Amino acid sequence: MSKENRVSSSLNQTDSENYPVPPFEHQKQPFPGLACKMTPRPDHGETSYKGSGRLQGRKALITGGDSGIGRAVAIAYAREGADVAINYLPAEEEDAKEVIALIRAEGRKAVALPGDIREEAFCQTLVKEAAEALGGLDLLVNNAGRQQYSESIRDLTTESFDATFKTNVYAMFWITKAAVDYLPRGASIINTSSVQADKPSDILLDYAQTKAAITAFTKSLAKQLGPDGIRVNAVAPGPYWTVLQCCGGQPQEKIEQFGASAPLGRPGQPAEIAPLYVTLASQENSYASGQVWCSDGGTGTL
Ligand code: NAD
Ligand code: MG
Repeated sequence: MSKENRVSSSLNQTDSENYPVPPFEHQKQPFPGLACKMTPRPDHGETSYKGSGRLQGRKALITGGDSGIGRAVAIAYAREGADVAINYLPAEEEDAKEVIALIRAEGRKAVALPGDIREEAFCQTLVKEAAEALGGLDLLVNNAGRQQYSESIRDLTTESFDATFKTNVYAMFWITKAAVDYLPRGASIINTSSVQADKPSDILLDYAQTKAAITAFTKSLAKQLGPDGIRVNAVAPGPYWTVLQCCGGQPQEKIEQFGASAPLGRPGQPAEIAPLYVTLASQENSYASGQVWCSDGGTGTL
């Protein structure tokens, strides 16, 4: 049977069938990097994501909402009917502007809240300002992350180790702690872990530990907040084509073959994981809590 015949005409396969495969160009960017400078540009669902009212009237705060997975989630949430606040670093304003315009194009409220989440005081202000601007908060997506590879524990500085833990673990704790006071019954918290939590790479010693911590945090908090009617889940992405990888997340030789070892033979595009964040946010999944949901291109990590 030809490939064309195997694709049902009812499926929107045009994008995924044409998604880029390795090899990729070398493309080093300084941290935190810009999605708009990547080659090829990732698909965050700008033209492909179609909403169907699954998050009508919801109010979401998404960290790292300027680029990559967070940007795809921001676009999807807006197209599903949610108002969205995004946090990002001031250096990412160029990416963030595009996201804000895309949310507003859906007729939804878009709130831009730049700042560094390694500071507890900023995390508290972030949540307060998001809730005030949105008129409440019932979806929290802890997605911002720092990944800087290091070949050896001998080269991994305390400063770098600390920055990874502050961004990936402490900020999630501070933001969630500030948010629980606002979250009503039916609210959903979604954290971004990684396949690295279970299959850590040699060169991601600090990062992999933070992703394991996110998994444990998710499972523990789901038990605490269940009685309040608040669900807590995590998503564990495999290799996704985002700027995180190009600004120190991987050596350039690995960028060249990024995603090649996944059975699907390519990295995922952010638009391909956003639907998981939609389904976990939606009340359609009102019994799903305390779980880690993996999307890794067929490796079967979890
Ligand atoms: P990305 O670079 O597009 O997004 C990460 C975002 O984190 C940045 O846009 C930035 O806004 C934010 N951030 C980093 N440090 C910050 C700080 N100090 N203050 C405020 N914001 C800060 O890359 P991505 O791949 O979309 O990453 C999103 C999440 O997905 C991360 O948690 C990452 O660990 C996770 N993840 C990614 C992959 C992958 O292959 N891309 C795989 C597994 C997990
Ligand atoms: Mg970014």
